[in-house]
This record gives sequence, C-alpha cells and structure tokens, in this order.
Amino acid sequence: MDSILYFDYIAVPLYMVLLFSSFARGMTKGRSSRLFNWILITSLIATVSDIALELLVRNTPVPRVNLIFGNFFAYSYFLFHNGTGLLYFMFIYSITNTWYVFRKRINFIFTSIPFDVFLVLLFTNPIFGKCFSVTAQNGYLRGPLMSVFYAMASVYVIFGLSHLIYCKRFLDIKKWFALVSMYVLTYGAVVFQFFNDIFLVELVASAISLLLIELVVLRPDEVLDSVVGLQSWKAYLDTLQKIMITKQPVQILAIKFLNAREVRTYLGEERYVKYIRLIADKALSLASTEHLHGELYFEHPGYIYLIIDEHDFDSESLVPILATSVEKYTDDLKGTGAKLEYKVCSIKYPDGLDSYREIKHIGHHFSELMPHDQIFIDAAEINKTKEFQIINNMNEILTRAIRDEKFEVYYQPIYSIWDHKFISAEALLRLDDEKYGQISPAEFIPEAERRGLILPIGDFVLDAVHKFASENEIEKLGLSYIEINLSVAQCLERQLPDKMASLRDKYQVGPDKVNLEITETSYDNIGNVMDENLKILSEQGYSFSLDDYGVGYSNIQRVSKLPLKIVKIDKSLVDNMNTVSGKSIMNNTVRMMKDIKKELVIEGVETKEDFETLRSMGCDFIQGFYFSKPLPAKDFIDFLKKNNLEPEG
Ligand code: C2E
Ligand code: MG
Ligand code: MG
Repeated sequence: MDSILYFDYIAVPLYMVLLFSSFARGMTKGRSSRLFNWILITSLIATVSDIALELLVRNTPVPRVNLIFGNFFAYSYFLFHNGTGLLYFMFIYSITNTWYVFRKRINFIFTSIPFDVFLVLLFTNPIFGKCFSVTAQNGYLRGPLMSVFYAMASVYVIFGLSHLIYCKRFLDIKKWFALVSMYVLTYGAVVFQFFNDIFLVELVASAISLLLIELVVLRPDEVLDSVVGLQSWKAYLDTLQKIMITKQPVQILAIKFLNAREVRTYLGEERYVKYIRLIADKALSLASTEHLHGELYFEHPGYIYLIIDEHDFDSESLVPILATSVEKYTDDLKGTGAKLEYKVCSIKYPDGLDSYREIKHIGHHFSELMPHDQIFIDAAEINKTKEFQIINNMNEILTRAIRDEKFEVYYQPIYSIWDHKFISAEALLRLDDEKYGQISPAEFIPEAERRGLILPIGDFVLDAVHKFASENEIEKLGLSYIEINLSVAQCLERQLPDKMASLRDKYQVGPDKVNLEITETSYDNIGNVMDENLKILSEQGYSFSLDDYGVGYSNIQRVSKLPLKIVKIDKSLVDNMNTVSGKSIMNNTVRMMKDIKKELVIEGVETKEDFETLRSMGCDFIQGFYFSKPLPAKDFIDFLKKNNLEPEG
C-alpha cells in the first residue's frame, strides 16, 4: 500500500517558517541558536529528500532517471536524518551549558563513534547493499543492517534523554518538557508508524517539537539584548547559574567600558551599538583563532562578558591583542573625538572565584578596585580585599545595620562668615559594621538606593536628627538649623510630607530647624510627586539646599527655578582653586549665585588659605575639615559649646 505523505508535506513549510522566524528574530548569536538553526536546515533537507524518494520510487518498475535521483535522495535522507539526531544531542549539551564535556578529546571521540559507524555503513552500502536498496524492480527496500542505523541513532536518544533527566534540576520545567518532547514525540511517531505504516508522521512530529522548542526554549527576549542584538545580561546570569550547578570550570573575561554612557550619548545610540557589535565580533573571532570556545554577553551601558570553556589559557596574553582591535575601532571613533576607555578582568572559576554572587559583583566593580594605570587584572587579586568583600556583602551589611540599628548620625559644623559662628550643621550617616568596620556613606548610600533599602535608612536619619534637635535645644547652642541629605527615593515618596509632619509633632521641632538637601541628579528624575513634595514642604516652612553643585551638568537656569534657599558648592570646585582658571570659575559661580539670590555653602574647605579666598569672594557659609570633620553627636555638642558659647580668645 502506498504511504501517505501528507504529514511530510506539512513538515516542509513548518521547517521553513521556523528557519525564517529564527533568523527574523535574530536568533543567530550563541552556540545553541546556531546549532538549532542547523537542526532546522538538516531536518528540512531530510524531509525534502524523504518526500522526493517516496515520489520517485513509488511506482515499480522504477524508471531509470528516477532510480538515479531516488538513490541520491535515499542517501541524502539518511545522512541528514541521522545528522539531525547528532546535532540535537549536541544542542542539548549546549542549551544546558554542559558543553564543556566535549572539550575532553576522549569524550568527543566517544560521542562521535555511533555516527562514525553509521557513516561507514552508509558509504559502504552502494557496495554491499545491506542497509537499504533502491532498485528498478522493488523500489525502495530496507536491508538487514537497517536496524544498525536505528541502533546508532538510538544511542544518541538514550544518552540525550539521560542527560536531560540529569539536567532537570536546573532547567526551567517548561523548557525541560519542550526539550524532552523531541524524543517523546518522535519516538511516539515511530511507534505509531510501526503499527500504521501508511502514515508517515515522524518528521512532522519532530517539526512540532522543534516548534515547541523555538517558542518555549529559545526566547530572544530572554537571551538577546534587544538593542545590541548580543546575548543579554540575563542570559549571562543564567549561564553562570548553570555553570555553578554543573561545576564546569571556565574562565570569564569581563570587559568594562568606563565611559560607555558618555560615548553613547555623544555618538548616538545607533553608532554606539555598531561599535559595540564590532568589538564583540572581534573578541569572539580572537577567541576562536586561539581555538577557544567562547560565548559572549553584553550588559548596558558597556559591559562585555566572554565566557570561555577553556580554563587554563593565559587570558592576559589576549588583552594586548584585544586592546589593539578595540583601539582600531576607537581610531574610527577618534574622527568624532570620542574614545572608549576600558578595563579587563579575568575570572577563573572555580579555583579563582567560586560563588555566583562574587562573580556577578566583581564583573561590575573590578574597575573601581584596580590601580588607575592598569588595564588588566586577575579577579583573584581583588576578591579577597576588604573593599570587594564590602561590595559583595553589602546586602547583608545593610540588612544587619537596619535590623540592629548600627547606623549613627554624625554632624559636621557649618560656619557662617557673616555671624562669625557655627550656625548650622550637616547630618552625615556613619555605619560601623561588626565585621568590616567603618564603611563610608559614599559606598553604602548608592548601594542602598540600588537595592531599595534607602527608605528605612532615610527614615532613621530623619528621626535621629529630629530627636537630636529636640533633646539638645540646638538654638541655645547657636544653631539655626540642621541639614539633612534626602535621596531621590525619599523625595519621590508620597508620604514624605506626612512623615515630616509627624516628626515635627513627635519631637516639637519646627520646619525652620530643618533644611533638606537634594541633589541635581535627584531633580533630574522628577516625577510629579517630587514637585508636589517640594511644594508642600516649602509651604509648610521647610527650606531646601541643592547639594554638590558643580559636579555633573550643573545648570544655573534650572537652579534659579527651583525652590531653593541654599546652594552647596562641591568640594571639587574648591580643590581646583589653586589654578587661575579654577579660582575664576569659583568666583563667577559665587557671583552668579548671589545674582539669583541664593545663599552659598562651600563644602570641603580644608585650608585657611581657601577659607580666606572664599570669604573675600563673598560666600556665606563654609563647611570643611578646616573647621571640623563630621563628629558624633556628643562631640559635636562639645564643639559647639567650646566654639559658639565661649567668648573668643
Ligand atoms: P555630601 O552630602 O556632599 O556630604 C559632604 C561630604 O564631604 C561628607 O562625606 C563630608 O564628610 C565630606 N567633607 C566635608 N568636608 C570635607 C573636607 O574638608 N575634606 C574632605 N575630604 N571631605 C569633606 P561623607 O560623610 O563621607 O558623605 C558622603 C556622601 O554620602 C554625602 O555627600 C551624601 O551624598 C551621602 N550621605 C551621607 N549621609 C547621608 C544620609 O543621611 N542620607 C543620604 N541620602 N545621603 C547621605
Ligand atoms: Mg550633603
Ligand atoms: Mg555635597
């Protein structure tokens, strides 16, 4: 009886659609995607060959021309069909990040044996004809050794399936089912065909399971960065996790473009992306010329991670070559005046670093922890340093500090030039960790903001300052108000005015005793809530300072429009006053601020000379080590008693 080919016919357009959509969705990066595309291509060829064979030889005696083509398609069918089995087996190892097993030559040879046996049988078949034959009298006929074909294919199925079962513990269950479906559906179809041999459903069954895999497993939104088209940060973390579970030794090259944000703004998104892709391609091709299997991932705004299966190569030797090629591309950038600055860190797993969190954090922070004049560093050199351990354990440190109230508010006095005394102070947070000692707010505040822990910390500061002001009757010590730093998240909190009101009632500390410091960056992020908060609090009598003027993109016009009483000039402007231009910048800044009727606090004044210069320029307030470092509450009170209350001389 003739076989019914309808199902095979369906498989052809299905494979074509899958291939098209795979390319259309940009699924061409990374080993797994490439293997998957090859599977689609070989499956398509196998299916077309199968159909052609059936059509050519279904009527006996088979005409001569049909016989020649029939033979050709029979060989093509078996070659590509069994090839697909091998490719799928490899795909499983790639998608589960266990590819490293093939690095051992012996494993590789072992893996290829069944396919080699199959090839020998296939290519000797024209001589012996024991596997199958295509003849004029009988058309297509199976031979006694056909079972060996199936046996060899089954080896890959058995090992592939066992490996999937082994990997079940770290694969998403939906993805796992999709991957297993390839075997279940195909074998189900084979069994079905065995009993109903007029229906050819095997190829369409594998097409359906590949469709399932493309939809469920190979999701570009999960693995590809939609802007750059490279494998994403999320895919990187995913791979890292799998590496940890399988204890696969790897080496990761983390490349950080230090000024990525600026260069991107300068060049525009499109050109920036083009450069990143060029550099990524170069890095990959470099790795492959060194015979290294590498997978590359990109994280915004400018991190590249190259995970290399080889553990023992000397990554430092790659750096100069990498540098030259990055340099080459940045040469092109030079025409535009831009230059990408970068640093490279090599991370060896598991003997260099062995924890997911450490690897993740070192990729982000290594450049801050290495010498400025150095481009390359081995992660093992920094991961034991206290600075890195603090960054790495920040979550734990902050949680512990919030829970055990390990924070303390210090006060740095601010001197009023007109009143000849200390008229205010800035509240500055200190953290003394039981394990890591004193940690600077410059380190932990940004981290707390990033981790969403800044609100409880900010609340603690607000409470502590109000309490301090009420307990010490600060006005009797000559103090008019205390400045409190507000972070963006606090400014955006709807309850902020209510919180301030309840603190005012609880401690009987009026709005005139508190000044709130905001930063320009926080004002950049404004939403309505921030505007409303500032408005409500201003109406209630709270005053605001703009912190850190002179860092970033300070804009006098914007400053003039904000409800600010005070502008605080950043220390960097003071540090620059030893040059003629630096002094002139300070002078002009002071004049402009006076023109728009702002009071001025100059931060970071350390010397008498600078103090005198600033006084002569007409500044109002001076804050800096020249007078005092930030002090614990008790010492601060003593300081005020000594300097504000006792008559001079
Ligand atoms: P900031 O608000 O600009 O605070 C001024 C910083 O300059 C303080 O650093 C202070 O100790 C330092 N400083 C003052 N005078 C001098 C000087 O003469 N020489 C030098 N070298 N430094 C001087 P600190 O206390 O380390 O705080 C760093 C930053 O952390 C603060 O910068 C502020 O942005 C943030 N911060 C501190 N406490 C809080 C807080 O309670 N809440 C929030 N949101 N941020 C805080
Ligand atoms: Mg401040
Ligand atoms: Mg400041």
